[in-house]
Amino acid sequence: MSAATPERAPVGVDPTRASIARVYDAFLGGKDNYEIDRKVRDGVLAEAPYARHLAYENRDFLIRACRFLAQQTGIRQFLDCGSGLPTAENTHQVVQRVHPDTRVVYIDNDPVVMAHGRALLEENDDTTLVSADIFDPSAVLDNETVRKHLDLDQPYALLHVGTLHHYEGPADGPAEIMREYYDRLPSGSFVAISHFMDPENEYTAMARKAEEKFRHSPMGSGTFRTLDEIRTLFGDLELVEPGVIRLADWWQDGPRLTPLNGAQHCIAGGVARKP
Ligand code: SAM
Repeated sequence: MSAATPERAPVGVDPTRASIARVYDAFLGGKDNYEIDRKVRDGVLAEAPYARHLAYENRDFLIRACRFLAQQTGIRQFLDCGSGLPTAENTHQVVQRVHPDTRVVYIDNDPVVMAHGRALLEENDDTTLVSADIFDPSAVLDNETVRKHLDLDQPYALLHVGTLHHYEGPADGPAEIMREYYDRLPSGSFVAISHFMDPENEYTAMARKAEEKFRHSPMGSGTFRTLDEIRTLFGDLELVEPGVIRLADWWQDGPRLTPLNGAQHCIAGGVARKP
């Protein structure tokens, strides 16, 4: 995939405004970002150097949670809200490695994600990418293409990984949005969520600094919530062990031999099942 540059920007892309997807790509060391996105990243890193690891921590959780859902549950359909730019291991690659016939629908609203995502998926009939507002559950769940690719009356995995902290409305908005999704989720479905966290410990200052930089940057979003606040995003669903927890403690691949870095204190999430 070639690097996006302002000179070769796809139609509909404004290279003078930072985008969440491109800033995230910059944090992950990707090439599909512009100068304005790298400025946001560098501004945050100047004040909160630990934030460098937030994106990796989030992405690693997405991969572990997808692998878990594919291997340990009967779920064969995934609705991935806020997919981001294609990177090293994407949801469909993780879950289709376990069960090749798993269907995946990605939702995003960033034109660069749309352009690069569609190119990646051209030859994969079981995976599709739809442009819709992930903070409007009916826009997602009533979308014709989503309904054509997934049977939403059968259990599916709903992913909201690294997305809800970018909602810039009322503070209780994300919990309300998720409740709307849950009301329409068939029994036996699973949900995975991750969210920036204020750990209410010595890393609070770092979290709040990163928040301030994200929200007052040209990207304009990135709210850090406490662990209790993040728990409310799961509503009344049944939490899968070990519950809502620092992502660093959510079923790591092996024993921890190194101490947690600052970012690992500042992002949490979990997986839950609709009874
Ligand atoms: N879920 C991926 C992960 O965890 O690696 C990517 C997370 S990235 C930080 C957030 C993504 O959500 C971006 O690609 C952004 O374009 C998308 N996004 C943000 N607000 C959105 C909205 N209202 N509707 C659709 N997509 C949105």
